[in-house]
Amino acid sequence: MLRQVAEGVLIHESEFCQSNAVVVQGRAGVLLIDPGVLGYEMATLANDLRELGQPVVAGFSTHPHWDHLLWHARLGEAPRYGTARCAATVRDRLSDARAKARIAEQLIPPDIAEHVPLDLLGLITGLPAEMAQIPWDGPQVRIIEHQAHAPGHAALLIDERGVLVAGDMLSDVLIPMLDLNDTADPIEDYLAALRLLEGVAGDVDVLVPGHGSIGGADQVHARIDQDRAYVHALRDARVPSDPRVGPSATFDWMSGVHERQLQQLARRSERDGTPG
Ligand SMILES: [Zn+2]
Repeated sequence: MLRQVAEGVLIHESEFCQSNAVVVQGRAGVLLIDPGVLGYEMATLANDLRELGQPVVAGFSTHPHWDHLLWHARLGEAPRYGTARCAATVRDRLSDARAKARIAEQLIPPDIAEHVPLDLLGLITGLPAEMAQIPWDGPQVRIIEHQAHAPGHAALLIDERGVLVAGDMLSDVLIPMLDLNDTADPIEDYLAALRLLEGVAGDVDVLVPGHGSIGGADQVHARIDQDRAYVHALRDARVPSDPRVGPSATFDWMSGVHERQLQQLARRSERDGTPG
């Protein structure tokens, strides 16, 4: 079920929302980034890795959203990491007894809910903020932390392989989804993150978004520009000309996401008394 996208880097695309799980081969086993969503897919992934003689030696969640925090018992008990801020957010959001039930009811689409195992959800260890790389025995994986989309979101750059694991940004099917929870300036957070990614774009041959198609080197700047144009349109309350939303969209619910973002931003600027 795995597809190689660069030397020693393999992906599995889920049936759910074109989610990409990323496997990075190390010396004694693999690093598994955002393992997947459906229990049977993660179990198959675990079996495939076992057949390849590649145990999971580390896990990483790019950001604190349920579809990036799952795990399957068959993947084993390797340490699972996220940024410190990601882990703190997860701890906070899972702190009450009803948290998982609420996620199952409100966030997971009903048609897949029975296939999403929540027992090992979010069991991640936060890496200290000054730690610039994932601690593991394999190719260096640089952590590029920013606050777009979710608190403590990490994009990961595997320099030696020219691979950027973008988390929930730079997708060809999802528009930028801003973190509108408790953030002071979600638009600027998003634009700042795009600048960070732009800063490493020259080193990227393969772009792996959290959801959507893998991009080649030519796609990196194109997707950064496309995300930025969307965020600018959202900021200015203009109609975005963006293939990911509208008649050509892969997901028809994307226009609803766009409308909600517009409304929430309008409410915030009313509340704050800022124009636009
Ligand atoms: Zn997300």
